[in-house]
Amino acid sequence: MYLRIHRLQIELPRVKNPDPDAAAAVQELFGGRFGEMSTLMNYTMQSFNFRQKSKLMPFYELIANIATEELGHIELVANTVNLLLEGASEAKAPKDAPLESGTSKRNSHFYILTGQTALATNSMGAPWQGDYVFNSGDLVLDLLHNFFLENGARMHKLRVYEMTRHPVAREMIGYLLVRGSVHALSYALALEELTGVDVKKLLPIPKISDENIPEAKKFREHGMHRKLYRFSPDDYKSIAAIWQGEHPDGGALEVVGGPPEGGEIPDLEPVKDSFAPGYDPDELAEIAQAILKRSGLA
Ligand code: MN
Ligand code: MN
Repeated sequence: MYLRIHRLQIELPRVKNPDPDAAAAVQELFGGRFGEMSTLMNYTMQSFNFRQKSKLMPFYELIANIATEELGHIELVANTVNLLLEGASEAKAPKDAPLESGTSKRNSHFYILTGQTALATNSMGAPWQGDYVFNSGDLVLDLLHNFFLENGARMHKLRVYEMTRHPVAREMIGYLLVRGSVHALSYALALEELTGVDVKKLLPIPKISDENIPEAKKFREHGMHRKLYRFSPDDYKSIAAIWQGEHPDGGALEVVGGPPEGGEIPDLEPVKDSFAPGYDPDELAEIAQAILKRSGLA
């Protein structure tokens, strides 16, 4: 089962500079074939369906634990999309067409389907699909797929990075590039233990170092490329049997007991003319306050 913490894995910058077309591109990193929904659901399904969990514990726990980190990644990408859409419409009455600008943006679903927030789709508006999940049941084949998936994800992150200069998008991508490099290396190490093949020699794919991306370099300087977080109060400790030794770029690999400190989840302002969270947000807030007061919680 899962516990939930009301934190993002990193602090996202708050920049009031709406860019709905950048938000549309970033959607690929949420619901594209190589997006965070795909890493999340691949590792989640593989962990649910894993046979001989106790006998193969380090391999099972590696996949299960990374799946949980990916839950925090979809959360981070969704919040990035939301921040890119902050202020994307004009505050005026419905008769004055406050959402008019949405007709000329790449993705009008931001304006019609949601209150100018993230969608469970890719950058072209196609929904995330369950057949992006590969789970053959053969451990080596599934790990090989996961290694491929992390590197495909890296390719798409780098390309989306090259599509936008927006500081919120770039901060998120810098962090996820570093975390993806940890996951790719951990699957490489697992494959090496099982087969003797030095899979990590393939890395990085594409062959550009994260040091070339300033937002990724910053996280590397904090050693995050060497840290595997253990997303559980007490469980999944056997991942340290795989995530150990030297990082190929130097420094010791380290399992951290617990999640990263992270940052605040942005508290989005209401968008009244999108009726989000309602046409009279103050009335809803009064109701929330009243029930908290009634319950002695405010
Ligand atoms: Mn991820
Ligand atoms: Mn990953």
